Amino acid sequence: MRAIRLVGQRKPVVMQEIDVPRFGRKDALVRVKAAGICHSDAHYRSGVTKTGPLPVTLGHEVAGVVEEIGSDVSRVKVGDRVCVHYLTSCGDCHHCHRGCEQFCSTAQMIGKHREGGWADYIAMPERSLFHLPPEIGIEEGAVMMCSSSTSLHALKKARLRGGDTVAVFGVGGLGASAVQLAKAMGALEVFAVDVNPVKLALAESLGAIPVSAADGDPVQEIRRLTGGRGVDVSVEVIGLPVTMRQAVQALAVQGRAAIAGLSDRTFELESYTELLGREAEVIGVADHLAREMPQLLEFALRGKLNLEKIITRRVPLDATVVDGVLDELDRYGDHVRTVIVV
Ligand SMILES: [Zn+2]
Ligand SMILES: [Zn+2]
Repeated sequence: MRAIRLVGQRKPVVMQEIDVPRFGRKDALVRVKAAGICHSDAHYRSGVTKTGPLPVTLGHEVAGVVEEIGSDVSRVKVGDRVCVHYLTSCGDCHHCHRGCEQFCSTAQMIGKHREGGWADYIAMPERSLFHLPPEIGIEEGAVMMCSSSTSLHALKKARLRGGDTVAVFGVGGLGASAVQLAKAMGALEVFAVDVNPVKLALAESLGAIPVSAADGDPVQEIRRLTGGRGVDVSVEVIGLPVTMRQAVQALAVQGRAAIAGLSDRTFELESYTELLGREAEVIGVADHLAREMPQLLEFALRGKLNLEKIITRRVPLDATVVDGVLDELDRYGDHVRTVIVV
């Protein structure tokens, strides 16, 4: 089968012919129909984020149709439309029992530690597969598996309550989902911060109040727009020290900043004025949970999460084209989410 693979960091991704994956009794083989291209993929290629052993097939936002099932599989059947939760875990360790399976000692992420979905097929444990309702497009189902699900997890980690004000730093795939999910969860007002006017216009069309970081200090602007108070919740999905700090600086008294943007760099806070003196909370966000998937699908099914505007481009399973998309992500281009249609 065809697979677009990372063969070395700081090298272009390449198309390789590899065997259709084998699968176990509790696994299913999924024919991939759509797979998103995420900023994390650009980080794997550039070396900002380490991957498992290379080469590896990239792609962790995957949806498709069940092609074959193992002998012990009962929840999905051949022909079912499914989306793929990107982490596999043991289900039986300290972290799995505590409900934070992303820290499972055997956790593996597809397209990073194990073969991903930029390919004709992917093999996954049955319990990583979620039925995609017919009302939700296969491409939307794919994109939901990373950007939207991490946004939902971030808002839950930040303990968003009805009536809270929210600021979302960065309107990429995660940010555009975070805006919609925050509103669906009862946020009074959602501010969206970006430097890119195209992305600010998208955020506004999704119901956010745009705040341009290109026109001045977004923290000052958020304070002005909130009568000096700041926001109850902020979500940072860019991964830059400056925006991480702004996400904390924009908080109201007892506000919570959920930091979900990946970075290998340090960010600093002024300890009294920005943290202690306001009882601010800085919360790290890692991945998301399988049990959050059904709720996420409900939001999409009820029209609270519209991903059609987020998917701004569709490309074929072509290594050169995909490599160009990763270059664009490195430059923070206009496109929100590009999906490979297989
Ligand atoms: Zn991703
Ligand atoms: Zn485990």
